[in-house]
This record gives sequence, structure tokens and C-alpha cells, in this order.
Amino acid sequence: MTAMLTSGIVVNGYRDMATRLPVARVPVCSELVLPLQQHIGTPAEPVVGSGDRVVRGQLIARARGFVSAGLHAPVNAVVLGIECRPVPHPSGLNGLCLVLAAEDGADWGSAGPEVVDPNSIAIPEPDIIRMMVRQAGIVGLGGATFPTSVKIKSGMSQPVDTLIINGCDCEPWISCDEMLLRERPGQVLAGCHLLRQSLAADRCVLAVEDDAPEMVAGLQQVIADCNSPVRLEVLPARYPSGSEKQLIHIITGKEVPSQGLPVDVGAAVYNAGTAAAVYQAVVHEVPLISRLVSVSGPGIGRPRVVEALLGTPVSELLRFCGGRTADANGLIMGGAMMGLGLASDEIPVTKGMNSILVTTPAMSQDAQGEMPCIRCGECARVCPARLAPQQLLSLIRNGDLEQAQQRWALEDCIECGCCNAVCPSHIPLAGYYRYAKGEIRKQGKARVKAQQARQRYEFRMERIERAKREREEKLRKKKEALQAANKARARAAMAEEARSFEDEM
Ligand code: SF4
Ligand code: SF4
Repeated sequence: MTAMLTSGIVVNGYRDMATRLPVARVPVCSELVLPLQQHIGTPAEPVVGSGDRVVRGQLIARARGFVSAGLHAPVNAVVLGIECRPVPHPSGLNGLCLVLAAEDGADWGSAGPEVVDPNSIAIPEPDIIRMMVRQAGIVGLGGATFPTSVKIKSGMSQPVDTLIINGCDCEPWISCDEMLLRERPGQVLAGCHLLRQSLAADRCVLAVEDDAPEMVAGLQQVIADCNSPVRLEVLPARYPSGSEKQLIHIITGKEVPSQGLPVDVGAAVYNAGTAAAVYQAVVHEVPLISRLVSVSGPGIGRPRVVEALLGTPVSELLRFCGGRTADANGLIMGGAMMGLGLASDEIPVTKGMNSILVTTPAMSQDAQGEMPCIRCGECARVCPARLAPQQLLSLIRNGDLEQAQQRWALEDCIECGCCNAVCPSHIPLAGYYRYAKGEIRKQGKARVKAQQARQRYEFRMERIERAKREREEKLRKKKEALQAANKARARAAMAEEARSFEDEM
């Protein structure tokens, strides 16, 4: 069942810009910087120290806790240390990183041959697949960076009927999934089989968009040639059909409940790049040490999709792609709609970095000032999460975040920016929602802190009371013992006196 997506917007994807050249590997650079936090969850814990020599693929930081992911050395190298360096994060703050110096002559090595027949690979037991995925440090490569083994585990505990492999590049200007599916379709299809086996899913659907006809034709051919059970679903290109909940709705017709998970409606969604990484980990035992990055935008000399080792500075990717044009004025990690502005090109490639967009002033030429809402309802019409953006805006402006959250499901906003794009009053609606969600999280944290402080105070008072009671009890017992001893002494003295009196008589 494929439902039509009536929400969302049609945008120029600019995808052809970075798909004219084949994928190329960025040369190994002398210093690699690997942030310990490249995933959702607890940061990885280093297992190597300054001066240690590490080999390509060796574990250098282990997963700490259940929701976490390990890190591996991308090349043979020497550990320079653990330092605070710029990392891709909205806060703009530095983060703890393992810094490696690549050995002279360190190279990419071989990641194994391209799969010819994805149906012929050996499929291990589900638990083995999950363990190998965890050992390889794989996270969602579409940008979500949730540890894949944890997602598999949750899919194993509830029935999954539809496994969806997301081959829709999630935003304009991003082309890495398209190039992966054009150049390495066998790896993705093999990953589909492994993920389907791990989840015992009834069917597997590979979803792509129709604005990349060359990729679609190639996939149809490969699937037909190997008689793959994977069903190819070609969707009309419409932003943001690549986002998880929208994709599930389009493919299955089911809606993931507010605050719910895909598995609640029997679905699981994995990015195409993640599926290829699962194939590399399970079949070739290669951990996640590199990824495809789309380097595009009007401000880059030679846009293309590159494969880069984790830890490579963005500056190296830009240099490899012909450098910035004279009018380049900014860098965005991700796409133009939801991406994160980067303050520096020294930020390293991380597991979640699917794109670097190099902007020019022409991209923001039509930016205009915010005007009053005219209640046209356009924002509600395009909202893929079926929210009421105008009501949310009014509640947020009035400071009523609780209503926005509890009655109007603010948390379900995926910050796609479709409402911004259609608002005739140029109101940056998604910015308001991002701010409000941040405030709610801050308030939630403050509430938890206050609750913990109150509990600490109550525990302390109880401890003081208990100590006081114990002290009093001790004193009482001591007093009783003293009184008993005094009585015994008095009785002994009286007995002694009586005996002396009898002797005198
Ligand atoms: S940013 Fe949020 S409110 Fe606006 S269209 Fe996207 S999901 Fe809807
Ligand atoms: S699109 Fe803009 S002007 Fe129209 S209702 Fe929404 S917020 Fe108001």
C-alpha cells in the first residue's frame, strides 16, 4: 500500500549538481580528529592513550552503556592525545576528541569487492548480526546517528512487518544516497537482506524518489537481474518525504502515534548508507571508518560526492572539490532546510555528516523581514506532521509553552521548515519551534534538578533525624545501663553492710 503524500512541498533538489562526477575518495590526511560523541547516547570511552600505535579498524574508544557506539581507527596511526577540538554541534562548543597522526604511507586499504549477487551472501543468526553491528560502531547514517544495534534490538522485541530502506536523500542539495545507490547498489541490497533477517520482517521496501531517473533505472535492473525480493518503491520527489514518519505513512498508510516509534506500527526504517555499512560489517568485518559526503552548493568549485575517512577536516574535502568560489560566504552541515551552520572548516567528518553545503549570498537574496500573520493557513496545509503551525506560533509568542506542548503536540514538529517556505509573511516558524522545544527541554531539566535537590534535602533531613534518634536511643540505653549498674552496686553495698552487721553481732 502506498499512500499519497499531500503535505510537504515541491522544491528544487539541486541534486544533479553533485552527481555529475563519480564518487572519489579524499586522500588520507596527516591528522585525524575523532569526536567521542558522534552518536545519540553516551559518548564513547577511549581505550588507547597518547603514544599508542593503532592499526586501521582497531577499536580506539568503546561504547559506554547501552545507547552508545564505539570508534575505530580509520588508518594506521599514532595517538597524539585526547583533546578538546571544534565539533559539529549546535552549541558551537568544542568537544573531546581522539587525535591521531596517520603513519607515513597510511592508505585506505580495501573494503572488499562490490557484491555481485546480494542474495548469495551468508546470513548469520539475528543476534550475531546485531552483535557485529554493535562491534562495528554503526549508527544511522541519514543524520540521526542513533546506534543501529540498539534499533535492531528494539525491532527484535516487537513484531516488524515492513522494513523500509530509505534511499531518499532527505533534503535539497544532498546526493550521497543517490550516488551510493548508483555505484554500490549490491551493498545496499545485501544490507537489506541482513537487516530483514535480524528483524524477521515480512517484507523489505527500498524507497527512492523519482527525480534521479538514472539511479532508478539502475536499481530496477539490478533488482531484476538478481531476482531480489526487495521491492523498489519510487516516490514523487517531495520534501520531506525522506523523513521517517512521513516515509512510513507513504509506504504503509499507517501513522506513527505522537511521541511513538515506528515499531509501534510494525515498521522499521534504516538509511540506505546504514544498510551498506551493515553489509561491510557483517560480510567483510569492516567497522564504520568512512562515509559518503555530498559536497555541493553554488560556493564550491567542483561539487561531487566524496568518500571521506572519519576525522578528516572539512577543509580537506573543500580542497579536494576544487576549493571555495570567490563569493562563497558560509558552510552548512546537512541541507539548506534543516542544516547546521558551521563556524569553521576545521570541523572533522563525523558519522552523521551526510553533506557540506557551501553557500553564496545569492542563496539568501530573497530573505525578507518578518510581517504579521495573515491567517492564510498555508503553513498547516504543507505541514507533514499535521500540526497547526499558526496556533503553535501564537502560543509560543504568548509564552504558553505548556499548551503548545501538551495540546498542540509541539514535540512532533520535525523542524523541516516547510511552513517557513510557504509563509507569505516570511515568519521563521521553524525557528520559533526549535527555540520553544529547547526551552521546554531546559525547563524539564530544571524541574528534574529541582526535584533531585528536594529529594537530596529530604534524604539529608531524614538522615539527620535518624542519627538523632539513634543517638538518643544510645544515650537512653547507656543511662539505663548506668542506672542498673548503680542499683547493683547499691544492692551489693547493702548486702555487704548487712553481712558486716551480722558479723559484729
Ligand atoms: S517545521 Fe514543524 S510545524 Fe513547520 S511544517 Fe515542518 S513539521 Fe510542520
Ligand atoms: S503561513 Fe504564515 S501568514 Fe499564513 S497562517 Fe501560517 S504563519 Fe500565518
